[in-house]
Amino acid sequence: MVDRFTVAIDGPAASGKGTIARGVAARFGFAHLDTGLLYRAVGLKALRAGGGVIDAQTATECARALRAEDLDDPELRGAEAAEAASMVAAIPSVRAALVEMQRRFARRPGGAVLDGRDIGTVICPEAEVKFFVTADLATRARRRHAELARSGATVSEAEVMADLKRRDERDRGRADAPMARAADAVLLDTTELSIDAAVTQAVAVIEERLQGRIGQGRA
Ligand code: C5P
Repeated sequence: MVDRFTVAIDGPAASGKGTIARGVAARFGFAHLDTGLLYRAVGLKALRAGGGVIDAQTATECARALRAEDLDDPELRGAEAAEAASMVAAIPSVRAALVEMQRRFARRPGGAVLDGRDIGTVICPEAEVKFFVTADLATRARRRHAELARSGATVSEAEVMADLKRRDERDRGRADAPMARAADAVLLDTTELSIDAAVTQAVAVIEERLQGRIGQGRA
């Protein structure tokens, strides 16, 4: 078993980063944390506590009180939670309240994969491997729309695209921990590449780094 080994995977919604993170975690037996779920849980709780309105103080209290059980709510996968997540994610005291648990998770023995927006830049700048997963907006909208249609939602592709675009702009434009590619992150563009092929590429990069560590006697 590896000692500490962190894989940081960042990128916009529907880029394929979640599937890649799960594939990599399963292949290497690493623990996986979808950090978007933390912001979704805080967003939804803050929205409910505020009767449909989010205020910074309530959201910060929700982030400080976040528990593992909060991540099991099936509504976290919905569009309302996504929108609320990107709103609370722009509040610096919310982000600050979630940093320590993400860092602890990243350095747990046995290896960890975290996916999000700021993992390689802010949460784990020292991660052993970093990826930035992206795809053009139209491809991501088509993918997310197909996913939603399979789960019975009747939203149009144009609406899905508008939601993704609004969230991208908020996530890239915020002052604190904006979504960005770390200088040392490997870029995986899934516009043309299938998600399976992207998982294969990610696995190859990680294998190479792990072998480098074995060579140095540090695995
Ligand atoms: O990845 P997911 O779409 O579930 O993320 C929901 C929202 O949570 C994002 O739009 C972003 O605003 C926020 N987020 C973040 N930092 C992370 C993970 C998610 O700001 N590390």
